[in-house]
Amino acid sequence: MKATSALPAIRYAIVPKSPAAHLFEVTVTVSNPAPEGQRFTLPAWIPGSYMVREFARNIVTIGATCRGRKVALDKLDKHTWQAAPCKGTLIVTYEVYAWDLSVRAAHLDDTHGFFNGTSVFLRVEGQAQAPCEVDVLRPRGAAHKAWRVATALEPAQGTAVLDFGRYLAVDYDELIDSPVEMGTFVHGTFKACGVTHEVAITGPVPNLDLDRLLRDMKKICEAQIRLFEPGASSRSRVPMSRYVFLLMTVGDGYGGLEHRASTALLASRNDLPVQGQARMSDAYRGFLGLVSHEYFHTWNVKRIKPAVFAPYTLDQESYTRLLWLFEGFTSYYDDLMLVRSGVIDPAAYYELVAKTVASVLRGSGRLKQTVAESSFDAWTKYYRQDENAPNALVSYYTKGSLVALALDLTIRSRTRGQKSLDDIMRALWQGYGRDFYRGSPVGIDEDAVQPFFEEVSGLDLSEFFATAINGTRDLPLAALLERVGLTLAPVTPENGRPALGAKTAKRGDDLTLAQVLDGGAAQAAGLSAGDALVAIDGLRVTSGNIDKLLERYRPGDRVTVHAFRRDELREATLTLDTPEISQYRIAETRDRAAAQRREKWLSA
Ligand SMILES: [Zn+2]
Repeated sequence: MKATSALPAIRYAIVPKSPAAHLFEVTVTVSNPAPEGQRFTLPAWIPGSYMVREFARNIVTIGATCRGRKVALDKLDKHTWQAAPCKGTLIVTYEVYAWDLSVRAAHLDDTHGFFNGTSVFLRVEGQAQAPCEVDVLRPRGAAHKAWRVATALEPAQGTAVLDFGRYLAVDYDELIDSPVEMGTFVHGTFKACGVTHEVAITGPVPNLDLDRLLRDMKKICEAQIRLFEPGASSRSRVPMSRYVFLLMTVGDGYGGLEHRASTALLASRNDLPVQGQARMSDAYRGFLGLVSHEYFHTWNVKRIKPAVFAPYTLDQESYTRLLWLFEGFTSYYDDLMLVRSGVIDPAAYYELVAKTVASVLRGSGRLKQTVAESSFDAWTKYYRQDENAPNALVSYYTKGSLVALALDLTIRSRTRGQKSLDDIMRALWQGYGRDFYRGSPVGIDEDAVQPFFEEVSGLDLSEFFATAINGTRDLPLAALLERVGLTLAPVTPENGRPALGAKTAKRGDDLTLAQVLDGGAAQAAGLSAGDALVAIDGLRVTSGNIDKLLERYRPGDRVTVHAFRRDELREATLTLDTPEISQYRIAETRDRAAAQRREKWLSA
């Protein structure tokens, strides 16, 4: 709670006006509009999701009044409006269409509402630094009597936590960095290092084991707080005074978006633990990985940031070559924190790393694009993947997490266990993150990263940066893992089934080629993504029988294939590829000195 003295100059109000039509009505009241005519802008993208989404296209109607009289509101470009000059308080009222059940935008129906400020709150140009307040209003009708509100925004005096009413933000940046959920969610809390963490779960989850969920989340959060602030003992080491997890559950879905004191998560209800079932399912492990990932961003990207994000430029793309650090390193620590916090055992952790290795090595795009380039082009490539993606690009998430693993093991090895990646993360935190929202909003320059890492580790990392960050050569993971007593080896498929050199997809009973791999059998035979494979050697192929049929052949066999491209039948001779390595295995060796190094790494 925080007392309000004078009225802030910027006031918003938002009400779910018509859940059936998926419309929020928003007003923004500006006490001191710009004399030459006040401009308003809606962001084109939301931080954390690096794609221009043009949120303003969901504004359906918009108008302005000044002292009770209508004033002209000119649209200047796709997301900017300018009101005619007016003396006195200016009010802009607009409707926002909200029918996007993701963590990135806004959603409203008669079961619940969710919004990110980037989708609903116009920025008052020239006054974005000003404190603002927002009235979150209950939708009309008896059906919404039981609705509550969950958000990291601070309730104003007179508004109870979880209630509709007035909320406060120190500036526009905080306002749009604090998503809001409203509805009849399940609500749980836990304390991590003395700070209250709330979890609001939307959507039906039969027999949810809430206690187990909260217990596991607490362990993960505390492990991360201790990583960044190992010395401190009070709640002051936690970067925020309160944290909120907003979890939307659906039948099938997965996603998360980080914010400074909250996160929005989307998950399948089947990922969540069931009462009376103690085992750790792969699905629940994956969910906890998501929790761990978004929470880690509290430090890495919400406070330790690239300089170009301090502040964000939300009208257009904002380019950085560093997403391998902000997303990749976060992806490394998300699973590592599961094992360090004791939520999973080392064997489960090895499985997760092996899966990441397999996914990176599968695509030849890794030999063409560096993680620095992948970061820079996130807007047009990673976020807009097409059928050629595995041939053309590398993920700064998965490859970035392996870069982090390789760097961590390299530093541990070359400093004989004196230093690790943890030291670098802590130094970044001290140098850039800790005071980011305390008057020192400075981000790290693109060129400062390597010297920073070298200074903290005391190592010359020029070779590492040249190959791992700015090069495409595969990382020497097997050799590095051996230093901590682990072997990394491909798993040869037992059935010996030859490969088509393509990723396939079901379309009804039909089998279509979703992605054709560079240099593979399908490409050599002239087949393309989108082709529907109908026969091999005159035998009908379906999505159900293709594996069994291929098991009858050996790599190098020449087969006649029939495929439809659109409505045109094609015939081709295809020479089957060697089986695809889609799995790797990581196992412990008997080296006792290496085992000690491994235990230090995994327990830290
Ligand atoms: Zn992330």
